[in-house]
Amino acid sequence: MSFNLFEKILDPSQIVSGQELESRYHHIWHMDEPLKAICLLMPASTDEVSSIMKICYEHNLPVVVHGGLTNLVGSTETYGNEVVISTERLNSIEEIDDSSRTMTVQSGVILEHIHEAAANNDLLFPLNFGARGSAQIGGIISTNAGGLRVLKYGMTRQLILGLEAVMVDGTIISSMKKIIKDNSAYDVKQLFIGSEGTLGIVTKAILKLEEAPKSRNAAYIGFNNYENVVAFLKYMDSNLAGKLSGFELIWRN
Ligand SMILES: Cc1cc2nc3c(=O)[nH]c(=O)nc-3n(C[C@H](O)[C@H](O)[C@H](O)COP(=O)(O)OP(=O)(O)OC[C@H]3O[C@@H](n4cnc5c(N)ncnc54)[C@H](O)[C@@H]3O)c2cc1C
Repeated sequence: MSFNLFEKILDPSQIVSGQELESRYHHIWHMDEPLKAICLLMPASTDEVSSIMKICYEHNLPVVVHGGLTNLVGSTETYGNEVVISTERLNSIEEIDDSSRTMTVQSGVILEHIHEAAANNDLLFPLNFGARGSAQIGGIISTNAGGLRVLKYGMTRQLILGLEAVMVDGTIISSMKKIIKDNSAYDVKQLFIGSEGTLGIVTKAILKLEEAPKSRNAAYIGFNNYENVVAFLKYMDSNLAGKLSGFELIWRN
């Protein structure tokens, strides 16, 4: 099946095929292994993702989405007969709404860029982990990442207010809401969070931000047993106004 199918909907600069695929890879830890795929496509809008998916659906082509390629389970590997959709050009921060404390982003925005944009507005997007310089928000949503501050702020699931996605046949579904209190029937976006791209391609999201904390304190504490760890966490939760945001447990016997 030829990559020419996509030439009528994308600019040539958005299509990587043939020998050019050798400059691409399927994971940041395998950058020396050339990508095997029919082609790699770089859509820049939701409509382009939708058009690609319509063609793939019509021609029964398997699709694998590439975000920041930092997953730890090999889920972005391909073997040669797949169309790869890279979200790297879906990289716009569309809005930061200071009053609703939300950020509207395309799914290819890198986590560190989200942190910087929030900080420039005295706000915080609390999700944080080692791969923040490469991981994209679409991949983060698709893996329901947790990270270093999960105790206080929750998993990705708790940090997404709105979502837009493209289904396998190209249908665009949108639930781009900014509200916290939303009791309108099914919460469809939750199906996509943690689904690893199996239900569709996340194209946009509305992120829930927090006020940036005025101060931070770090402590290194040793415990004799696990019961004391639990007692400590309960104590901190009930006595510390700002609550404990991060907690790394290093267990030594
Ligand atoms: C150094 C390091 C530290 C980490 N620390 C933590 C941690 O503390 N806690 C934690 O929970 N995780 C951690 N992770 C894992 C991290 O959660 C994932 O690597 C990250 O969320 C994946 O984002 P990505 O953009 O790289 O996605 P990718 O690796 O590109 O993709 C991940 C999966 O999502 C799919 N996908 C990507 N984008 C989309 C999209 N737009 N729509 C639909 N499907 C999509 C892909 O096909 C693939 O199945 C760590 C990883 C590394 C390398």
